[in-house]
Amino acid sequence: MASGGGIYRNGTHSHRNSLKGTTTTASASVNSNPSKPAVKNKSSSLVGASSALRKSSPGSLGGGAAKDDAGVPGRVRVAVRLRPRNAEESVADADFADCVELQPELKRLKLRKNNWDTDTYEFDEVLTEFASQKRVYEVVAKPVVEGVLDGYNGTIMAYGQTGTGKTYTLGRLGEEDTANRGIMVRAMEDILAEVTPGRDSVSVSYLQLYMESLQDLLDPTNDNISIVEDHKSGDVSLPGVTLVEIRDQQSFLELLRLGEAHRHAANTKLNTESSRSHALLMVHVKRSVKGREPAHPSENGNTTNMAKSLRPPLVRKGKLVVVDLAGSERIGKSGSEGHTREEAKSINLSLSALGKCINALAENSVHVPVRDSKLTRLLRDSFGGTARTSLVITIGPSPRHRGETASTIMFGQRAMKVENMLKLKEEFDYKSLARRLDIQLDNLIMDRERKEKAFEVEIGRITTDAQNRISEAERNYADAMEKERLKYQKDYMESIKKFEEKWMMNQQNQGSERKEQMIHTAEEVAELKILLSKETSLRKEAEEEVNNLKSQLAQMKMSEASANSEILKLRKMLEGEVSQKEKLEGEISMLQSQLLHLSFEADETRKRLDRREPGKVTGGLDSLIPQVKPKLKDSGNGEKASVAKLFEQVGLQKILSLLEAEDADVRIHAVKVVANLAAEETNQQKIVEAGGLKSLLMLLGNSEDETIHRVAAGAIANLAMNEMNQELIIAQGGISLLSMTGTNAKDPQTLRMVAGAIANLCGNDKLQTKLRGEGGVKAFLGIVKCGHPDVLAQVARGIANFAKCESRASSQGSKTGRSLLIEDGALPWIVQNANSDSSPIRRHIELALCHLAQNEGNAKDMIREGALWELVRISQDCPREDIRTLAHRTLTSSPTFISELRQLQIDY
Ligand code: ADP
Ligand code: MG
Repeated sequence: MASGGGIYRNGTHSHRNSLKGTTTTASASVNSNPSKPAVKNKSSSLVGASSALRKSSPGSLGGGAAKDDAGVPGRVRVAVRLRPRNAEESVADADFADCVELQPELKRLKLRKNNWDTDTYEFDEVLTEFASQKRVYEVVAKPVVEGVLDGYNGTIMAYGQTGTGKTYTLGRLGEEDTANRGIMVRAMEDILAEVTPGRDSVSVSYLQLYMESLQDLLDPTNDNISIVEDHKSGDVSLPGVTLVEIRDQQSFLELLRLGEAHRHAANTKLNTESSRSHALLMVHVKRSVKGREPAHPSENGNTTNMAKSLRPPLVRKGKLVVVDLAGSERIGKSGSEGHTREEAKSINLSLSALGKCINALAENSVHVPVRDSKLTRLLRDSFGGTARTSLVITIGPSPRHRGETASTIMFGQRAMKVENMLKLKEEFDYKSLARRLDIQLDNLIMDRERKEKAFEVEIGRITTDAQNRISEAERNYADAMEKERLKYQKDYMESIKKFEEKWMMNQQNQGSERKEQMIHTAEEVAELKILLSKETSLRKEAEEEVNNLKSQLAQMKMSEASANSEILKLRKMLEGEVSQKEKLEGEISMLQSQLLHLSFEADETRKRLDRREPGKVTGGLDSLIPQVKPKLKDSGNGEKASVAKLFEQVGLQKILSLLEAEDADVRIHAVKVVANLAAEETNQQKIVEAGGLKSLLMLLGNSEDETIHRVAAGAIANLAMNEMNQELIIAQGGISLLSMTGTNAKDPQTLRMVAGAIANLCGNDKLQTKLRGEGGVKAFLGIVKCGHPDVLAQVARGIANFAKCESRASSQGSKTGRSLLIEDGALPWIVQNANSDSSPIRRHIELALCHLAQNEGNAKDMIREGALWELVRISQDCPREDIRTLAHRTLTSSPTFISELRQLQIDY
């Protein structure tokens, strides 16, 4: 079956594309260029083409779609559910037929107009009064819940008159009968069954929106919650809202009960009815991607583990929003509620704004009034955004409410035409990586401190030990010496004494027998000899003892030396630790630069989209690359201040050096940071002086990575806004590098940056000839082949700039002859796009034509290529008066044009 939504009237089938058909035919009839409308008419009926169309239109609810990841088209799915007759209807309507008849097998619903006439509508699902809650969950909600578990945002919403079963379908707890469990309860059961406890997380907030005031149903004191929109991802956040982590089904049921009780209490206090307020349940599911969980480094700090632990973990964050809308009936119909007109308007505001947005999206309108109400701001991702959305419209059977039932059905029919671009919400978890690295660093510091302490103690112990041993040896030596000395002294005294005695005896015995004397003397000599040899051996022993002590001393000295070498070794180890710490600190600063980049990017996106507010449409490079302004104070948000601090810490020189890093990821991050810095005027000079321009140009030539090309070209485009830099870019071969980048680019965003950079250079009067000589104009003609309107707009801007400089030069007489644009063959493209559907392209081209026409030397070529007709058309039809007047003035002041028009007998 076709994608649904066909309208059958009285059995005749009117084509569902009729609406789109009329819009495209209308625009085709305005287009006077015969080569285009046929193609356009055809492609706009395809899902892909129409969604691509919406993506580039500024009005889409998810307008900030990220530039490098296009989503998957996913239409809003709509089911209709009929409530069974209730007791009152069974009695009151007993004699009447139901106002609707369902044909679930054909997915059709017939709405009775009168007894003989019905209208037939087709839906994605038709659920009869007998449909079980389980079946309703499976067809309406289950695919959305599965999407959320896979990392997509999802919305489930009920719309219908009060009493038709919205709350029954969504919010039933099923306490009395488990078969009655509604979508909220069943969705949480499925989510909890899928997630891994400890690794993944599920958290919930529950809110009520009444009269444009947003109340926290989990904390009733918090009754004025503000909405913050992230224009890049299309997500909204509610700072200050209560967010409760859910671990099991029981605690979720308690939370729903608590929310319901608070809702009841709030409504009693404000004297409102719950049927007049919208209830929103938000479930945030965060899951780690398998294989990218945090790695834990081993004890010894193994380097491969360390490198792995530096990779940030990847997480997917899906958000499920379940919306129980206020009753769709017109307020004041019963007259019993007693609201003033102002109150009634405010009560209806969000619901009618939702209706208007859906109409605008269904009709592919350029402006979608998202900002008109809080509900549409909260649901900006659900309609025309990146979420998978399922709507159930609830109706009752009673013929008395035929009018409300019919309008509910029409709402559902329109919602079926809304196309979303589903997008995976996947991101690096840098915060948890930074936390992990902090812990690792602390562990290393602690470990080092412990080792230092142990080392000091060991040195102390070795030193005292050595000192003790040395002093003991010295003591032993001194003792032994003393003993020896005393012994010698004693022996010496004894022998002296003996000698004296002998001598005395000798004196006395003088004169006695000579012979006897001779013998005596001989005996004495022998005795003395013995004594002498004894003395000698004693001396030898003493010498040995001394030697022994000396060798002991030498040993002591050796052990002291080995202790010293151990100290040296430990010192070396300590130095190793220090250098490892420095390496880690380097890596941390790199990560800080990545964080810096991310913060910048968030900051810049916020500002860019802020600048895009209605009435402030900017052109040229303002919208091409955001200018980051150093506005650092932002109440309640200290993040920006810390970004500035980080930048100071990391330093420009270091960031520029990272452009040549070996790791491709690092290079990409670095170039993004430089691009962000280059977007700020005050940084541009510093970047160029520090050699940043040269590095960026080099990246265009050396790198193979398209992201690097895109971001570097964007940075160059920003630098190219400054006149001095323009000369430098051309002097350093920028044109051929940019045009080479353009030739190899696959992503239109890269081409947009390249074209934007060249377009900026085109506005410099002094560089015209050089720019053309280096192939700037030819590069444009290569780039336009991609056909993307954003790219063409940049090219058109460049051509307009170029033509303007030329016309200035020719009016001052410094330029003669044909335009270089015409020389290089750009005129056919200019004429072809003079009537482009995209207004920026058209406006630039119209200006370019006016400028070219001011140089009489171009007139002949312009007539031959058909530019004259475009000028005539511009002078009559252009919605901008100044351009109209300029075209008219130019035409009437050119003799060649005037004579051509006269020859053709055109009265101008
Ligand atoms: P709403 O939220 O749209 O105002 P409710 O969900 O409160 O409507 O439903 C109104 C009444 O109808 C409730 O009493 C509810 O139990 C009953 N009801 C609604 N839908 C069904 C259904 N499909 N089957 C049985 N009873 C239903
Ligand atoms: Mg209700």
